[in-house]
Amino acid sequence: ELTKELLAEWISRFSEKIQNNKGYLSDLDAAIGDGDHGNNMARGMQAVTESLEKNETADTTQSLKLIAMSLISKVGGASGPLYGTAFLEMAKASNDTKDLGELLQEALSGIKKRGGAQPNDKTMVDVWNKVVSKADDSSLTNADIEAAVESTKDMVAKKGRASYLGERSVGHLDPGAVSSGYLFEALLEAEE
Ligand code: ADP
Ligand code: MG
Ligand code: MG
Repeated sequence: ELTKELLAEWISRFSEKIQNNKGYLSDLDAAIGDGDHGNNMARGMQAVTESLEKNETADTTQSLKLIAMSLISKVGGASGPLYGTAFLEMAKASNDTKDLGELLQEALSGIKKRGGAQPNDKTMVDVWNKVVSKADDSSLTNADIEAAVESTKDMVAKKGRASYLGERSVGHLDPGAVSSGYLFEALLEAEE
């Protein structure tokens, strides 16, 4: 059940992880992309935090929409519209259900539709896909998240900038998968 309070705690913990790992995320992106993923996400989550502070009275649906809008307008790159779509789809679905598993399922569908990536393409989809099926029956653990993130290391990138490297992308973690891992770790912490 995604209450306004859980959402606020989730986003606050996610933002903290992004700010703390900004350099690491950009380093990961420098290896197989253009080196800006940490900076993109940090800028976006700063905007998200300010927007939520400014709109204290927003309910779950309105908060999800504010998060989506900040991510879309401030993260930029490939990941901004994808994270933004995820939260926008949750916002839309939250009019009918607050079930977290169902909301995450909508978010994943939105990311796949928007970016066209499938599992095994070495993107954030690899984390979302594995995690969402477990979040559905609340059996998700930190070990599951870590395994999903690590699984991108051996993959050949098929989408995004890393795909320009082809086989040379093997041996590197996907930066968007790592930031998505933080998102779900933050969720587990917020749920405790
Ligand atoms: P950019 O590549 O434009 O600089 P970022 O560095 O912020 O954007 O984000 C890169 C991340 O976005 C990748 O690590 C990957 O996880 C994700 N990504 C890129 N393209 C796609 C796509 N088509 N579908 C899903 N995720 C994608
Ligand atoms: Mg980049
Ligand atoms: Mg970029």
